[in-house]
Amino acid sequence: MPLRAKVASSVSRTAAALSRAAGRGDGSVIGGWIGLKIDPDLLAHLSAGRAIALVSGTNGKTTTTRLSAAAVGVLGRVATNSFGANMPTGHTSALAKAGSTPYAVLEVDEHYLAQVLEATEPHVVALLNLSRDQLDRAKEVAMMAQLWRAALVRHTDVRVVANADDPMVVWAATPPADPAQGVRPPHVTWFSAGQRWHDDSWVCPECGSTIQRSGEQWWCSGCPLRRPDAQWTVEDDGVLDPTGAWHKVTLQLPGKVNLGNAATALAVAAEFGVRPVDAVSRLHTVTSVAGRYAQVDRDGRNIRLLLAKNPASWLEAFDMADEAPTLLSINARDPDGLDTSWLFDVDFAPLRGRQVLITGDRAYDLAVRLDVNGVPFQHVRAFGEAVRAVPPGRLEVIANYTAFQDIRAELDRVN
Ligand SMILES: [Zn+2]
Repeated sequence: MPLRAKVASSVSRTAAALSRAAGRGDGSVIGGWIGLKIDPDLLAHLSAGRAIALVSGTNGKTTTTRLSAAAVGVLGRVATNSFGANMPTGHTSALAKAGSTPYAVLEVDEHYLAQVLEATEPHVVALLNLSRDQLDRAKEVAMMAQLWRAALVRHTDVRVVANADDPMVVWAATPPADPAQGVRPPHVTWFSAGQRWHDDSWVCPECGSTIQRSGEQWWCSGCPLRRPDAQWTVEDDGVLDPTGAWHKVTLQLPGKVNLGNAATALAVAAEFGVRPVDAVSRLHTVTSVAGRYAQVDRDGRNIRLLLAKNPASWLEAFDMADEAPTLLSINARDPDGLDTSWLFDVDFAPLRGRQVLITGDRAYDLAVRLDVNGVPFQHVRAFGEAVRAVPPGRLEVIANYTAFQDIRAELDRVN
């Protein structure tokens, strides 16, 4: 690396370490910020010589990044931003901290994908899904798909691993070839991870006609856009690879959603030459990810934490949660987005018949929504009150970002 980059990298590591020592989080944002101030090209310098995978999408990227890093780890050391700091400051910090590694797997905020593609020149980019998120801040889904598509046109060498079940992702991953401009069609490997949430992909991003669905298939009623055949699919409790071989996947993470994330991770690792048969056992080593899916025993209750930040991830959380008493907690602080009207996009009917408790800064918004949805509930002012209000046994907790962090803090920052 050039001298300036070496200095920037060293200062970045020191700043992150100081921030950690001061108890101000894991320091990855401040460390990366200072490093990039000293050398604006630091992320590119730190990426040079590494084989990199980027993982982006609205939901599941932290978990899929962790699973992919475990799978690629078959080959050697892997740098990764495992604390979910998924903007260029976080990537810079993660690579500086890891030192020299042959591989890196980086979670990327979907808004930053173009910028991070440019800086890191990855070998693989995994595109998981696109759905509405943080209404007061995030881009419209179709705009996001357009940005991804435009970014991929400039990087036709990157190998794309993409979700065949999400029409917006399929469209983003398949920009038209333009030989006159030197634009080749991208190399895409399709996986099927399912799509529970359809409400951001009823309209074709190519032509504006309606998207039709039947079973797992989908197609545009006005143009050739349709679901491609997936080479990696979930079947029963395992994953089918492109050769047709089935691999049993045993995870410590719940739900079919995470089997889909495992299929994605195996597909990403395969792009580096990792055989699924070698990677599959490593997926079992991934436990909770920054508190997500963590289980804590307290006062005879087994408390499980599920993070859900937007309508699509709430549907997935209902799918993962057991039929057990459930605490829902909603805040609307800056990291959550200030607008809670998305609660009306979520159908809470799957919770009928369960004991439902609500809490959080915006519990009353949730109360109105549940009342309209015909789901009986009980309001509690504090987490401890919720624990006392349910019988011994499982308590599922579904919370959005800062509400989740609050409860995690109550449980002594469980990982
Ligand atoms: Zn169309």
